[in-house]
Amino acid sequence: MRVLIVGGGIAGLTLAAALRRNGCAFRLIERTSTWAPVGAGIVLGVNAMAVLRRLGLAPQVADVGREVRRASITDAEGRRLITASFAPLRRRFGPTFALHRADLHRVLADAAGADSVQLGAALHGLTDDGEGIVATTSDGHEERFDLAVGADGIRSQTRSLAISSREPTYAGYTCWRFVVEAAAPLDETVEMWGRGLRVGLVPLRGTSVYGFAVANAPAGSRDADMLASFLTRFAAFGGHAPAVLARLVAADDLIANDLEEVVLPAWHRGRVVLIGDAAHAMTPNLGQGAAMAIEDAFVLAEELGRHTTPTAAFLAFDARRRRRVTSVQRQSRRVGRIGQW
Ligand code: FAD
Repeated sequence: MRVLIVGGGIAGLTLAAALRRNGCAFRLIERTSTWAPVGAGIVLGVNAMAVLRRLGLAPQVADVGREVRRASITDAEGRRLITASFAPLRRRFGPTFALHRADLHRVLADAAGADSVQLGAALHGLTDDGEGIVATTSDGHEERFDLAVGADGIRSQTRSLAISSREPTYAGYTCWRFVVEAAAPLDETVEMWGRGLRVGLVPLRGTSVYGFAVANAPAGSRDADMLASFLTRFAAFGGHAPAVLARLVAADDLIANDLEEVVLPAWHRGRVVLIGDAAHAMTPNLGQGAAMAIEDAFVLAEELGRHTTPTAAFLAFDARRRRRVTSVQRQSRRVGRIGQW
């Protein structure tokens, strides 16, 4: 089966890498003209790492990542509430890594290969005539495929063209992310819980720190002077927060977005299937959105190799994924609600 992959994010690139490994023909289209991953840092849990290991990519991730050995939750002043050692998890399932998203993208893009990847091509139209898919891209190009996979993120065009017009729903809190160089390396991952506000600090390689901060806010609210209002909002946080936040110099250092979810009754229709955020974007409270996208990609590639029709492969994919993804999405939502109290 010849596969169209729409979107070269974590889901699309992992699928491309897995299909390439399985010898399955594909074309990946990505609307941006250069690889410019949105986001700052990312934590790859043991389940994401298990898939990357099976794709032969774990050593490359380890090379650019920093192992997460323990994580604490503190109050806003930095007083420790709980610390979890990752050692028992590591013994059973292997290490967890934190890394810059650009580095993860590079590893995945290399594994996907350049031959079947087209940058600067956005999906515009998708027609399923029962025998195949005809896809139209922004450059006017039309091409036929046996099936299409929408890996085009939370505002998926594939989803709205072929599966559902449902819009993402806002979780009630907004987020800022950044990566800065700290004066000295941090020794552990920490999430600090204030009132309706949280700050997370995740050490990356060297002295780099990935930071995130969340606040209860109406949807779409943006401050005129984003950096100044961000620093004021989180000024009461203690621990390492003041030193790390002081490294922010311009509003461009911050990536701001409202946190949203996608919940769909069906992830596939006809010859089109959705994976990753396009299918089930979740709040980031468990750090599992990308892990679920990576698992999706691996399972879909396996099922496409096992079945002779897209429908059979999609049904098998859904059967293996739905309960797990729904449960993780729900737990993440619950942790977020508690954290935002
Ligand atoms: P995306 O990364 O959104 O990629 C979609 C791609 O499709 C993009 O490259 C886009 O340009 C392209 N595209 C869009 N439309 C079109 C079109 N019409 N034609 C062609 N291309 C198109 N997950 C974790 O596992 N660990 C974490 O630590 C973690 N932290 C997070 C922190 C925050 C604050 C947030 C918001 C999320 C976090 N996540 C985390 C979740 C993770 O970021 C997402 O689940 C993951 O990036 C989803 O990948 P994706 O490939 O499905 O979508």
